Amino acid sequence: MSLAIVTGGSRGIGAAIAEKLAQDGFDVLINCASSVEKAEAVAEKCRAHGVNAYVKKWDVADYDACSTALKEIKEEIGVPFVLVNNAGITRDGLMVRMKEDQFDDVIRTNLKGAFNMLSLCGAMMMRAKQGRIINITSVSAFTGNYGQINYTAAKAGMVGMTKTAAKELGARGITVNAVAPGWIATEMSDKVPEDIRENAKKQIALGRFGKPEEIAGVVAFLASDAASYISGQTIIADGGLY
Ligand code: NDP
Repeated sequence: MSLAIVTGGSRGIGAAIAEKLAQDGFDVLINCASSVEKAEAVAEKCRAHGVNAYVKKWDVADYDACSTALKEIKEEIGVPFVLVNNAGITRDGLMVRMKEDQFDDVIRTNLKGAFNMLSLCGAMMMRAKQGRIINITSVSAFTGNYGQINYTAAKAGMVGMTKTAAKELGARGITVNAVAPGWIATEMSDKVPEDIRENAKKQIALGRFGKPEEIAGVVAFLASDAASYISGQTIIADGGLY
């Protein structure tokens, strides 16, 4: 069976993506930076769909750690057919008060982390002459967002990287796309103060936050045969916010 790597798959959107891809018949490798027990629980749910599921801990922001992890995955399991760059963090703060490390941490994990995986996994997929890469960006890349200059810069960067990678890898039969969620109910959005969350709901056409499964479905589509001629695109799944 084809292997799918999901970065940041221990909870939230990444966990839902891993489960959906397992349901669709992919073996899954779930990455996380620290929450191994939670990732193991996600892997167990994936195995219930009759596929193999693996957990591997590494920091996507660390190029050498990504390189070592991917070499081990290739040797022990095989070359992935799907890579989902989902791992992400927030370190919110208004621009004029944002500390340098808040900016750097988010760029390192969200943007450079995606580059590390794209570049290293892209090279493996090129040799295999097949693959699907799906980057999880954010609708805030298009709208901007108070207190998120670091995050919106990283997510807008992912949209550009998606287009460039699609051009560079397309000749080898690899598609590269992005999904831009709006507000999705996870631990990440739970950290936002309730008054801001309630106000945000008023701007969403559907009047509610999305569920992680509603992003997983879009990712599964992009990983499927039905999306074989789509590349370089960013699909916004935000309940009509943007
Ligand atoms: P969560 O905070 O719930 O989960 C984040 C995941 O990323 C965890 O599995 C975490 O694992 C992992 N992670 C964080 N840093 C690293 C790292 N350096 N290396 C490897 N794994 C890491 O986030 P969500 O599920 O809400 O978000 C998932 C993605 O969707 C993110 O890219 C986010 O920016 C994006 N998104 C989310 C939205 C939302 O409203 N929730 C809206 C738009 C986009 P661990 O705990 O082990 O570190």
